[in-house]
Amino acid sequence: MHKLLSRLVRRHLPKDIDQNLIQNLLASLSECFNDHDEDRYMLERSLMLMSEELNEINATLQSQLVENEDSKKQLEENLVKQTALLDATPEAVISFKPGGEVNQMNRAGLDLMGISEAEFRANSGEKNLEIWLGMLVDPRCFVKDLDRIRLDQSLELHDYVDMKDGRYFAYHSVPEFLNGKYLGRVWCWRDLSNMKNHQEKLKYQAFHDSLTTLPNRMFILESLHHAITLGKRNGSSVAVMFIDLDDFKKINDTAGHDIGDRFLVEVSRKLGRGLRESDILGRLGGDEFLIILEGIEHSYQIDQVRDCVLGSLREPVVIDNTHYVVSCSVGVSLFPSDGDKPEELIRKADMAMYQAKEQGKNTFRYFDPSLERIAIHRMAIETKLREGIAKEEFSLVYQPKICLQKKNTVHSVEALIRWIRPDGEIIYPDQFIAVAENIGLIQSVTLWVLRTACMKLKAWQATPLESLSISINISAMDLRSHSFASAVMDVINDYGVDPAKLELELTESVLLDEKCEARENMARLRASKVKLSVDDFGTSYSNFAYLQELDIDFLKIDRSFVAGVDKNQKSAAIVKSIIDIGENLGITCVAEGVETALELAHIKQMGCAICQGYYYSRPLSEADLLAYMNNNHVTV
Ligand code: C2E
Ligand code: CA
Ligand code: CA
Repeated sequence: MHKLLSRLVRRHLPKDIDQNLIQNLLASLSECFNDHDEDRYMLERSLMLMSEELNEINATLQSQLVENEDSKKQLEENLVKQTALLDATPEAVISFKPGGEVNQMNRAGLDLMGISEAEFRANSGEKNLEIWLGMLVDPRCFVKDLDRIRLDQSLELHDYVDMKDGRYFAYHSVPEFLNGKYLGRVWCWRDLSNMKNHQEKLKYQAFHDSLTTLPNRMFILESLHHAITLGKRNGSSVAVMFIDLDDFKKINDTAGHDIGDRFLVEVSRKLGRGLRESDILGRLGGDEFLIILEGIEHSYQIDQVRDCVLGSLREPVVIDNTHYVVSCSVGVSLFPSDGDKPEELIRKADMAMYQAKEQGKNTFRYFDPSLERIAIHRMAIETKLREGIAKEEFSLVYQPKICLQKKNTVHSVEALIRWIRPDGEIIYPDQFIAVAENIGLIQSVTLWVLRTACMKLKAWQATPLESLSISINISAMDLRSHSFASAVMDVINDYGVDPAKLELELTESVLLDEKCEARENMARLRASKVKLSVDDFGTSYSNFAYLQELDIDFLKIDRSFVAGVDKNQKSAAIVKSIIDIGENLGITCVAEGVETALELAHIKQMGCAICQGYYYSRPLSEADLLAYMNNNHVTV
C-alpha cells in the first residue's frame, strides 16, 4: 500500500475494522495515490526541465543583450569615425533621400553649398537645387544630368562644372540600393580649380613667349591657320607682317643681354599699340616679330599698320636713362595671293623682310615671286660654296697700294679672293663672302687666304716681289671664334714668315665688338706683330677711342668718300678729317678706290700717304703683278 495511505489508514480508521472489507478500496486508493505520485513526479520533472530551459534562454538573452549593447556602441563609434572621415576629405559628399531631401553631408559639402547645415536640412530638395543651380556658370548641362537620373535611378554619373566664382569641379553621382530598394543617391564633388589653373598655365606657357608674354610661333601658326580658314569662308584677305629689328645685335653686344631683353619687351609694347583688336602680334624668337591682320579688304589697312610699326620704333626706348633707337625692316605676304598655308605665308613674308633689309633697312617690302627665285639661287650658291670650300676652288688676286710720298713706289698689295668654279666662271667675293658667313664656313675661307698669302710671301723671297707685304681681309665673324688668333699664329709659324709682312684688314664694327672673344683675339693679334688696318673707315659708327687702344697701323678711307672727292665738298671734308685723325694719332691713311687723276691729286694734296685704286692698278694675278712691278714701279 502507498505509504501515505497506510499512514492515513492507521491514523483515521478504527483499529478493529476488518481490513479485508476495505481491501479492494484500499488497493484502489493506493493505486490512486501511486498514480498521483507518478503524476506529481512527472510534473515536477517537467517543471524542472522547463526552468532549466528558461534559465538557458535567459542566459542567451543576457548575452545577446550585452552583444547588442556592444554592437550599438560599435555602430556609434563607426558613425563618428565615418563622419570624421567624411569631414576630413576635401571632396564634398552629400547624400539625398529619394525625394531629394538631404540625408547626410560632410563639411566640404556645406562649404560647397555655402549655407548652414540647419538651413540646408530645413530646405526642400527643390530649394537646395535652386541654390545650387544659381552657382553654376551653365546650369543647363547639370539639369540634363538630373533629367537622366530621373528616368533611370540606377544611373552613375560623372561630369564637370564651372562655377560662377571661377572654381571648377568634377562630380560623381552614385545611387544607393539595399536589396533592390532605392534609398537615394550620393553626390561627390572634387575641386579641380588648382589642377585646371595649372593646366591652363602650362597651356599658356606652351603658346606664349616667356620674355614678352606675346603669342609664340606655335600660337601664331594656329591663329594664322584660323585666319586663313575664316578668310576662305568670307572671301577676305589676310596679311602677314614679318618684322625684324635692324642691328639689334649692337644693343646686345654693347649694352648686354639684360638691356637687350628689356629693349625687346619695350618694343613688343610699342608694336602692339597701333593694332586693331582682331590683329595678332607675336614674337617668333630673337628680334623677330609677326603681325597677323585678318579681314583685309583694302591695302591701305596694311599700310596703316605698317606705318604704325615703322613709326613706333622711331621714338627712342629709354632704359636706365639711356636712349636706344633701333629701326626695323618689314616684309608682308598675303593670303590668298601668296599662298594659303601658314608656314608658306610666314616664309614669304620673311623673304620680303630680307629684301627690305638688303634695300637699306628701316623700310618694308611686299612679297614678290622673284624673291623666291633669289632665295632658291642663294640656296644653290650655298650648296656649291660648301663644295668649293672643300675643294679649295679659290684663287687670289693682288691689288697694289701705292706710296704717294715715295715716288709712287708699291707699298704692299691687298690680296682679294676669287672663286673659280670648275666651269671657269669667276665669282666675286661680294657674292659669296656673306654666304660663307651665313653657313658658318667663313673661317675656312679666311684661313685658306692666309695660308696662300703666307705661301706667296715665302715664294716671293729672292724675287722682285720680295719686299711686298700682303694684306688680307678678315670677316667680323672670324674674330668671334675664340681660336681665331691662335689659328692665325699657327699658320704664320708653319710657313715661317715674318708677321710684320702680314696686314689684317678689319672692319670698324669688329673693333667695337664688346665680346670678350673678339677683344682677346685682337689683343693677341696685336701682340703678334702683324699689322692691323681698319677697312672701309668712316662707314660705321665712329668712336675713335678704339684706334688708340688697339694701336692700329692703317686707316683705309672708304671708297664712297674717295669717289668724287674732287667734286663733292662733303666727301672732301670727310676725307680731310680722316687724314687729320690719322695724322694726330700717328696712323697711316690709305685712300681706297682712287680711279681718276683728279681724285688722286686731291687725295695727295690732302696729305694722304698711300693710295689704292683702279687709277694705278686693278687687282692683278701673280704673273701680272710681277710684270707690273718690273715695268712700272719699284717697291719701298
Ligand atoms: P674691300 O676690302 O673694300 O676691297 C676692295 C674692293 O674694291 C675690291 O673688290 C677691289 O677690286 C675694289 N676696288 C679696288 N679699287 C677700286 C676702284 O678704284 N674702283 C672700284 N670701283 N673698285 C675698286 P673685290 O675684290 O670685289 O672685293 C670686294 C670686297 O669683298 C672687299 O672689299 C672685301 O670686303 C671683300 N673681300 C675680298 N676678298 C676677301 C677675302 O679674302 N676675305 C674676306 N673676308 N673678304 C674679302
Ligand atoms: Ca679690304
Ligand atoms: Ca675697303
